[in-house]
Amino acid sequence: MTHIITSLCLRDGGCVEVCPVECIVPGLPQDKWPWYYIDPDTCIDCGACIPECPYEAIFTEDEVPAAYEGRGGEYLSMPAGTAGFSATWEGDNHHGVKVKLTSAKALEAGEVVDLTPDIQPNYEYFQKGPGYWDGWQDHGK
Ligand code: SF4
Ligand code: SF4
Repeated sequence: MTHIITSLCLRDGGCVEVCPVECIVPGLPQDKWPWYYIDPDTCIDCGACIPECPYEAIFTEDEVPAAYEGRGGEYLSMPAGTAGFSATWEGDNHHGVKVKLTSAKALEAGEVVDLTPDIQPNYEYFQKGPGYWDGWQDHGK
């Protein structure tokens, strides 16, 4: 098993700093890989990242919700061009650095979304995407 970062990720970056095996990487290019991603082959399932995420975006793989019910006001983000994701989210990350996500969507209270399709990109980022790029540990500082 592994832990999974879902589309609730708004690139806060706090999770990176608590991971004992340094297996969480910010996605680049951001328009294609908008979240941070956990390397499933390296994650030791310690659970330290879950409470660090201010957006509650991280789950164990078997607990990624198939029917996540929105509280209202939280955002999902997706790769550029994803249908229905036309909002912009702007905020500060863990280090006070500005983050801007341009393919986002606000959830309505009670809106139900399936987050299980978000599992695969965590694998794909390391299999087909850039994975551990030079300087990822300093990103956003
Ligand atoms: S702490 Fe949460 S929002 Fe921030 S990068 Fe990690 S998963 Fe994404
Ligand atoms: S569960 Fe532990 S090892 Fe896995 S990504 Fe989170 S902090 Fe890292």
